[in-house]
Amino acid sequence: MDFPLFLLQIYSNYLNYSTILLNFVRENMRRLKKKLYLGLCGGVVAALAVVRALNPGIMRSMPDERDTVGVEEPVVAPIAKLAADRPVSMPKDDRPVSMPKGESPRYHPIRSVPSYNAAFPDVQDVQIVAAMKWGVRPVKNRRQAEERKSELVYIGSNPFYDIDPAMQSSIPYLVPRASDLLYDIGRNFLDSLYVKGVPLHKIIVSSVLRTEDDVARLLRRNGNASEQSCHRFGTTFDICYNRYTTVSAPGGPQRRAVQNDTLKWVLSEVLRDVRQEGRCYIKHEVKQGCFHITVR
Ligand SMILES: [Zn+2]
Repeated sequence: MDFPLFLLQIYSNYLNYSTILLNFVRENMRRLKKKLYLGLCGGVVAALAVVRALNPGIMRSMPDERDTVGVEEPVVAPIAKLAADRPVSMPKDDRPVSMPKGESPRYHPIRSVPSYNAAFPDVQDVQIVAAMKWGVRPVKNRRQAEERKSELVYIGSNPFYDIDPAMQSSIPYLVPRASDLLYDIGRNFLDSLYVKGVPLHKIIVSSVLRTEDDVARLLRRNGNASEQSCHRFGTTFDICYNRYTTVSAPGGPQRRAVQNDTLKWVLSEVLRDVRQEGRCYIKHEVKQGCFHITVR
């Protein structure tokens, strides 16, 4: 037998034995398949259970995003990026608000409105009609407001908005329709901040119901104060756009403050939506730094 033939012989034998072996395995596998499969699975599960029981720390040592990210993280993390990306200066009112690109896709983008003055143009003449339609007869003073509980509801600071503690020349009473609107605006603002990954802030209400005494006092001090102000009807309130209350857990670390223009962008989206739903008239008041809102 020469050398190549010898090799061929071995190879041929090898093939034969392999085929016999494979056929044997296949034949037996067919019968044992189910038992074997179940046995293997059971064995693997049992082995893993034993490993875990012997070494409980093994689960913690595995990298898991949920363990490394704190509860506050999803809300706070992108802010450093937002602050770094966004222009510091306040946008000019009649120019489109330019927004940075490339935000985290996990959060809804902040778009603001093209122009505050164009988006919130409802002047006194428009608002006074709704104020007279839905409002109460003028209120003499605070005591009379208390007595007219069937017409007016007291609004105090709550989880959805704050009443400016320094509020002067007005008292915190609204007709129920306007109170509901204010509540919804505060809640929608918090919702929007959350889905946009911005730390939570509450809006601040700076002016609500002006009594006859307030109006008289304002007229004495400032001849321009409008006697026909919508604020006399309990239908109208002002929301600051340059001041907000940062929401922090009691006793917890102070949340990082957010630039007020970022918050104004988000607030303007919320207000545009309720206005487009036909729920209110809104004027962007540049001098007073507020949105002047009358329910309709
Ligand atoms: Zn106002």
